[in-house]
Amino acid sequence: MFCYLDNNASTQPCPGMLEQITKIVQGKYANPSSPHSFAEEAKGALALARRQVASALGCNFGEVVFTSGGTEANGIALQAAPELGETVACSAVEHPSVSRCAIEKVKVSPEGFIDCEHLEEVVLKLRQWSPRVIVAVMYANNETGVLVDPFNKVSSICEKHGVHLHIDAVQAFGKVPLDINSLGADTLSISAHKAHGLKGVGALFIRDGFKPAPAFCGGSHEFGFRPGTENQIGILSLGYVSEKIQSKEYQDLLSQVKIRRDNLEDMLADISEVNGSREHRLDNTSNLYFPDVPDNDLLIDELQAAGVYVSGKSACSSGMPTPSRVLRAMYGDQSDRHEKSIRVSLSVYTTDEEIEYAAKTIRKVVEDLSNL
Ligand code: PLP
Repeated sequence: MFCYLDNNASTQPCPGMLEQITKIVQGKYANPSSPHSFAEEAKGALALARRQVASALGCNFGEVVFTSGGTEANGIALQAAPELGETVACSAVEHPSVSRCAIEKVKVSPEGFIDCEHLEEVVLKLRQWSPRVIVAVMYANNETGVLVDPFNKVSSICEKHGVHLHIDAVQAFGKVPLDINSLGADTLSISAHKAHGLKGVGALFIRDGFKPAPAFCGGSHEFGFRPGTENQIGILSLGYVSEKIQSKEYQDLLSQVKIRRDNLEDMLADISEVNGSREHRLDNTSNLYFPDVPDNDLLIDELQAAGVYVSGKSACSSGMPTPSRVLRAMYGDQSDRHEKSIRVSLSVYTTDEEIEYAAKTIRKVVEDLSNL
């Protein structure tokens, strides 16, 4: 059986999407920046996608900048901070595209929540060096699914100290409703391929009036923030999924995901523990600790041989010799959780049969490895 449970790394394209967007790309292939009326059609297709994304985020049309993905969206928001005289603080469990831009990391609890007292201390410290501070916090963690700021306290701290808030919502997009105004973000990034769109495209919400530096030099595309002829098919896919995730049909599918994830956890409860908060996390993610297995690489290999695809750490950091930074930040270096845990991530298209097969296979492989 083929059982793909690595949907926080990437998802299958939405059924029916490719047919629809390919037709548009084949018909409206002019450069949207050209001065003739044929270009207007391509421009119109991009504008529709921008409206669809703006509607999904609850922001204005002119606040959506298309990018090459979540990494670039985070980069535009943060990477020029030193040149602009800004300093960046982020939580200790951010994606590398955020954490590498930050000079201070804020502690997280074993549940995976940001420590708001520490955040406030860090903000006050940074304010002594630079009047302009950016706080960057992900909405949901890619490895554990935990909502890093579940009670929405970070935006109040940012408001109190007059600092800018960037939210990396790459994992949350398509899994929970995102409303820019209630989140209080000044910038926020999303990525299409985590929500059944295509790879290599995302968007950065930039609050009207805020001016990060452009990604690189070039033309005035994307309001000057992301030069280069637009990735039309990718952008159309992001528009398509932005509309899809707001539909009742999709929301009905989404409501089944938690039931399946919880069933999987129940079936494995005697041999595993859930890492991080069980209550405040994405419905599709389960980060499971198996205390009796010698090593999660072995577990992942054996599962793969049986057709079950899961991750040990985030896709962007696998291949690196160091184990999960996220679980280490949550549980400390003394814990072995970062060496004996796997991430199982479902999508709206995951079936009951797949969950049942995965649970049985995981149990068998864990029992075999525990007896080694
Ligand atoms: N932010 C988070 C939380 C992610 O999980 C990822 C990808 O895994 C990214 C950013 C990067 O997104 P992309 O793959 O679109 O560059």
